[in-house]
Amino acid sequence: MTTTSRTSPGTPRSARHPRTGPRVAIVGAGPGGLALARVLHVHGIDATVYERDASRAARPQGGSLDLHPESGQWALRLAGLETEFRRRARPEGQDLTLMGKDGTVHHRQSSAAATRSEPEIDRGVLRDLLLDSLPPGTVRWGHELLRAVPLGDDGRHELTFAGGGSAVCDLLVGADGAWSRVRPLLTDAQPVYTGVTFVETIVPDVDARQPELARFVGRGSLFAFQDGKALMAQRNGGGLIRTYAGFLVPEGWTSASGLEGAAPDRARALLLDHFADWTPRLTALLRHCDDTVLPRPLMMLPIGLEWPTTPGVTLLGDAAHLMSPFAGEGANLALHDAAALALALARCAPPTGDAVTGVALTTALRHYEQDLYERSAPCARQSAERLRLCFTQDGARAVAELMGNGGAP
Ligand SMILES: Cc1cc2nc3c(=O)[nH]c(=O)nc-3n(C[C@H](O)[C@H](O)[C@H](O)COP(=O)(O)OP(=O)(O)OC[C@H]3O[C@@H](n4cnc5c(N)ncnc54)[C@H](O)[C@@H]3O)c2cc1C
Repeated sequence: MTTTSRTSPGTPRSARHPRTGPRVAIVGAGPGGLALARVLHVHGIDATVYERDASRAARPQGGSLDLHPESGQWALRLAGLETEFRRRARPEGQDLTLMGKDGTVHHRQSSAAATRSEPEIDRGVLRDLLLDSLPPGTVRWGHELLRAVPLGDDGRHELTFAGGGSAVCDLLVGADGAWSRVRPLLTDAQPVYTGVTFVETIVPDVDARQPELARFVGRGSLFAFQDGKALMAQRNGGGLIRTYAGFLVPEGWTSASGLEGAAPDRARALLLDHFADWTPRLTALLRHCDDTVLPRPLMMLPIGLEWPTTPGVTLLGDAAHLMSPFAGEGANLALHDAAALALALARCAPPTGDAVTGVALTTALRHYEQDLYERSAPCARQSAERLRLCFTQDGARAVAELMGNGGAP
């Protein structure tokens, strides 16, 4: 199952002397799964990443992420990719304006005055950075995991993929996001609806086509919260503004409201109806959007979810602690989990080339999972509290007060 390691440019020295590690199967080529494969590679441990997308270009990767020094950036440093990250990131993306529905500014933050360096990077750029750092063949595209079954009690698992392929591994890592197919091996917990639905829209080529809107949003993000609704716009690379229109609504609202499956013109009109009493400067984000109108009900796992340490299988990222994006931590946690797990595995793989014992592996998983619980539960709690705050009647003012007291949006 394990791929032969071919060294990529800039590969750290240790990767040129592969050690005999456990056969590691990572399900999911999101930021978490790819970072795990990369940091393992840095430590001379091969892994195979199984991804259901047919190729790296199969779907757009979505908006931008700000990576935090102690988590996302720390992981990229361990991955040997920090310099390249800084080259590709957009520090000016930290600019933020917070306003009410009439355009009254409640808070403004400039990247120049930021006390912490948390540059934005487009998800697609981050994914390319990680993918290009892996030996060819590490990612098996078009491999959707259908099920994983334990083989006895020594930690090995057999994986079955859509289309009929299968593989056996010594360590299975579920990095397969919200609807993980690995998670049921460890817990019955399922994501539940947070109460908020986003609808994602895009204004392309904004500087040329809508210069006034481009100036209004600026170089970073513009968030407006009021009356249990939100317009959250962010500048992405390539001259594009991505907006999440947010609604505090019951589950199933996108189909009940007629938005689901509506033709683009109808979907735009439906969205605009919800913001009829908002300043036209803000609703320009929706008036000028292209035909991309993507409903995204926000889901979360139970806060503080834990599971019994189980030989040969663990989780990272959203598969372990899915939360709403209001703490801005999901991708940061996924990267942090990945680097922490890779370090734990590297520590228990003997440099002699002898096989890792099952006991050592299970102990490493226990320590990794304990650390994951301690890091992720406070973020999940914070994300639930901020979601509630943003969708109060006077959301922008409430968030501005929080930020004035030193909190992040
Ligand atoms: C609107 C929105 C905005 C956000 N903004 C931020 C932000 O600003 N900052 C931040 O830190 N976080 C943010 N997040 C959260 C962040 O996107 C996630 O936490 C992060 O992507 C989790 O990474 P992951 O690798 O765990 O999972 P994912 O990114 O979900 O990757 C999972 C991968 O697994 C693959 N997969 C799934 N099932 C299977 C299967 N059965 N077989 C094979 N492959 C499979 C998927 O195709 C995918 O490639 C945001 C989320 C949303 C929804």
